[in-house]
Amino acid sequence: MKKLLFVLLTFCALPLLAQKPKYVLLIGIDGLGGYAFPKAETPNIDELAKNGASTYTAKCVMPSSSSQNWASMIMGAPPKYTNIPRNGFSIKKATGTAYCGRPKGRLFPSIYTILREQKPTSKIVVLHHWGDYDRLVEDKDLTIRKHTKTEDSTAIAAVDVIKNGMPDLLFLHFDHVDHAGHSIGHNTDGYYKAVAKADSLVGVVIAALKTAGVYDDTVIILTADHGGKGKGHGGPSLVERNIPWIISGPGVNKNVSLINEINTYDTAATIAYVMGLTQPECWKGKPVTGAFKLNMKN
Ligand SMILES: [Zn+2]
Repeated sequence: MKKLLFVLLTFCALPLLAQKPKYVLLIGIDGLGGYAFPKAETPNIDELAKNGASTYTAKCVMPSSSSQNWASMIMGAPPKYTNIPRNGFSIKKATGTAYCGRPKGRLFPSIYTILREQKPTSKIVVLHHWGDYDRLVEDKDLTIRKHTKTEDSTAIAAVDVIKNGMPDLLFLHFDHVDHAGHSIGHNTDGYYKAVAKADSLVGVVIAALKTAGVYDDTVIILTADHGGKGKGHGGPSLVERNIPWIISGPGVNKNVSLINEINTYDTAATIAYVMGLTQPECWKGKPVTGAFKLNMKN
C-alpha cells in the first residue's frame, strides 16, 4: 500500500514539478504602446500571448518616459520610492537614501540585486540597446552587462548568450520602436513596421531558446516602458500609459486575459515570485499570481 501511495504521489507530483521554471527571460521593447495590438503584425508576440497570460493595458508610471519606467519595472516600486523620477535623475540623490535596511550609496534594490543576494551564484545577463539603461543597474549585481548598439545586435548577442548557457535571468532591451515613435510618429505605418521588426527579433530569440533546449524551462515576460502619441510621450493619455504585459512559460496559464490592473513595478515582484525569491519590504509591486496555474512557492 505504501508503495502504491508513493507511486501515486510521484505520478501526481511530476506534472507540477515539470512545470517549475528554471530561467526567466524579460524582454523590454522601448516605446511599445499597448495600442499597437492588434494593429501591428506580431505573430511571435501573439503566439506568446496565446501560450500564456496577457494584457495590453498594463500601466507604466508617470511621467510616461523611459528611465523611471525601466527603473520601476526592475525595482518593484514607483519613482517616489526609487528616487528615479525622470531621465535626468541624479545618481547622487538616487543613491543618497538607505533602502530596505541596506547602507547608503546603492540604488534602490532591483530584481538583479535581490537575485544576486539570495542566490549568489546566479547568472544574470543584461543586454541593453539604450545606453542609459546602464545608470539603472549596478554591475556588481550582474554577470554580464553589454550595451548593444542596434536592435539586430541585441538579438545576435542574446542568441550567443543563450547558446553559451541560458542565464538564470536574462534581460533584453530593444530601443528601435521608440526611435520610430520619435522620428516617424506613433500610430503610423513606419511605427508599426518597427513593431513588426521587434516581433521578428523576439522570434529569433525564442528560436534560440528552443535550439538550446531551454524553452520549456523558461518563463518569458514581454513588456515596455511606455507608449506614445504624435512624436513623443510623457503624458497621462492611455496611448502613452498603456503597455503590453505578456507572460508565458512553465506554470503559466494559457490563453488567459489578465483583467486585474497591472503596474510596471509588478514585473519585478512577479519575477521574484517565479524565481522563489523573497521580495524586499520596500517594494510596492505584487506578483501577478492570476497568471499562474500553480502556486510557485510550493
Ligand atoms: Zn522609452
